[in-house]
Amino acid sequence: MTRVLVVEDDPQLVRALVINMQARQYGVDAAPDGATALRLAAARQPDVVLLDLGLPDMDGTDVIKALRGWTKVPILVLSARQASDEKVAALNAGADDYITKPFSMDELLARLRAAVRRTEPVPLTPETTLVTTEDFTIDLLAKKAIRAGRDVRLTPTEWHLLEILVCNPGRLITQKHLLQEVWGASQSNKTNYLRVYMAQLRRKLEADPAHPRYLITEPGMGYRFES
Ligand code: CA
Repeated sequence: MTRVLVVEDDPQLVRALVINMQARQYGVDAAPDGATALRLAAARQPDVVLLDLGLPDMDGTDVIKALRGWTKVPILVLSARQASDEKVAALNAGADDYITKPFSMDELLARLRAAVRRTEPVPLTPETTLVTTEDFTIDLLAKKAIRAGRDVRLTPTEWHLLEILVCNPGRLITQKHLLQEVWGASQSNKTNYLRVYMAQLRRKLEADPAHPRYLITEPGMGYRFES
């Protein structure tokens, strides 16, 4: 059974979440504030945490930092629509993904399943080293991209960026994380680098680079690879 820790101070939302998740055989614990959440996370060892950022006793971002001191449990953040700075802060603190309120229960459950699946170890086999889309194939082992039967020439920087994204399908990777990984910590504010290199990757891989289908921009936050 997958155990979910729901951290949310809105009792109606908690009730709806608990009913829906229990109906799908999830084990659910609920915490109305940050202090209870940290205590329950340690006591119950959940498989995934669903975290509202606006809590009565502490900032949700501080809950993430406290959890990340000792656990890699996937954290899915619940966030209000307008608060994009808040989402970025949460992702940089170590959250895995966010979902914007109001959300549909189906969308939430799909994100939960994806977050849990990502923590399951994936053995290295030909299937897992090949990332295939309708338009191109990425061979992670050979470090090659193939489109319409031909090798696509990628620079080392383009490859590094692409590799991080395709190894995390469906997951929002923050600008800061990509810049730190590819260019180093001192360059973590150079978001223009990302715009340039993502445009190059789209030109090389996307059928319609102006309307990307695979290399998706989350404005102000980061990028996501949709396979
Ligand atoms: Ca709240």
